[in-house]
Amino acid sequence: MMEQKRKDNGVAAMAVCYEKFDPAAYLQYNYTPPRADFERKDSIVPWKLACLHRAFTEGDVSGELLVDIGSGPTLYQVLSGCEVFNKVLLTDFLDVNRQELKRWLRDEGGCNLDWTPYLQHVCKLEGRRPSEWTEKAAKLRQVVLDVVPIDVHCSQPLAPDVLPPSGADCLVSCFCLESVSPDLPSFTRALGHTRKLLRPGGHLLLIGALGESYYFAGPGVRIPVVPLDEAQVCASLKESGYTLIRLEVYTLPPDMRVGVDDVTGVFFLKAVNQ
Ligand code: SAM
Repeated sequence: MMEQKRKDNGVAAMAVCYEKFDPAAYLQYNYTPPRADFERKDSIVPWKLACLHRAFTEGDVSGELLVDIGSGPTLYQVLSGCEVFNKVLLTDFLDVNRQELKRWLRDEGGCNLDWTPYLQHVCKLEGRRPSEWTEKAAKLRQVVLDVVPIDVHCSQPLAPDVLPPSGADCLVSCFCLESVSPDLPSFTRALGHTRKLLRPGGHLLLIGALGESYYFAGPGVRIPVVPLDEAQVCASLKESGYTLIRLEVYTLPPDMRVGVDDVTGVFFLKAVNQ
């Protein structure tokens, strides 16, 4: 009883931190140079895009439906997957983030980030001309079914009937679970909740922060993060019922440490639900 209350309080405190999440500031801090410098191989965003491109094109990830867990205000994480899956579902806890994504999907203007260089870069990874980015943008707009609410701390993170009974064929999730969980057990439970959304044999592509204890999601909006190491990520994955296929680690060069968080590295992993 006491233990349950402590868990609930920790999760509730995280939800309060997110009330002041500012999508425009978050995009500016993390998705512009130097962190998103497409001229540099050691910039963090090109590294993430290369991991996702490889994971989606190795041939083992397939099916109809891709679900992105905790999309936030960003689209980069589905730019490779939208070529493999006919249906993509975006999700986030916050309405401000869901609205940011919907503005781009409806092509209505007023977006806080121009995704063109991202679309061009992924076209290049796919062996296409950067000028084909408009086709990729159209493809993404065509395959995204919706942007729906999610809470990874609930044992059923999505509303009933959002997914087919068999579940999604693939999940992608970037910088969500560790940055919404008050502690390691909560991170592990959230990972377990996501597994319920995935069909047996389906894949999880997970990107997250290593060694991070906070990040800023706006001026003065300091959000606590569970500092993770690789061994903890692998143990949580196993405890949640996933089987690891591959883990890759990126270490932040000094000039990517721009004062918006204390992250030291990033992990990318591919796992399977079996
Ligand atoms: N995926 C994006 C990225 O790669 O930059 C955003 C990551 S951001 C650090 C964390 C996201 O988790 C935010 O968009 C936030 O709204 C969302 N979030 C907060 N609480 C959540 C919860 N309980 N369940 C799912 N997502 C949550």
